[in-house]
Amino acid sequence: MNPGLDPHVRNALDGDWNGLLQLAQSQCTKSFRGAPCVGMPPDTFFPHGDSPHDGTGTRCRLEVARVRQICRACPLRTRALCLVTALEQGDEYGIRGGVSAIDRQPLHRAWCQRVDEQRVKAALNGKPVALTATEKKRIIAAYIDDPALSLSRAARGLGLSRGAVAWAAHHERKRRARTTAASA
Ligand code: SF4
Repeated sequence: MNPGLDPHVRNALDGDWNGLLQLAQSQCTKSFRGAPCVGMPPDTFFPHGDSPHDGTGTRCRLEVARVRQICRACPLRTRALCLVTALEQGDEYGIRGGVSAIDRQPLHRAWCQRVDEQRVKAALNGKPVALTATEKKRIIAAYIDDPALSLSRAARGLGLSRGAVAWAAHHERKRRARTTAASA
């Protein structure tokens, strides 16, 4: 249980990220000052066995519950910022925002698949945006489908060379052709 954050996490898993992101952005500065974890040994937030990749699936539930109790005392907006920062940075380890590393896995996967048209637009307008894998594919698709989108602009938006974008577009065209042939 992560009171306050749970409904937003459930919505995010259903594809609606607005609540969680708005909560995180409502933290006026990207600061964790005043969070109960400040000054604690970092190891505290890495309970034994709570690793998404250790393959054992055994973790010390008592230890996880104790850490989550600490996070529960954290202001809701800070908890949201903590969780969203972990997702943005692909930080899969440790308890973040009161969500354990193992429980966070589906959220990391959903984060990579999410598409925020505003972020895609911002990237194409030259803003430095950390795009998800799906948002990057969206730009490649837009480059193929929209003659008004130049190779240079797509490359700038993706932070790639023109050659890399042309190569990715070539593969995407081939993938589309295979899909069309398979469904014909
Ligand atoms: S939610 Fe994040 S910032 Fe708050 S106590 Fe837990 S680890 Fe620290």
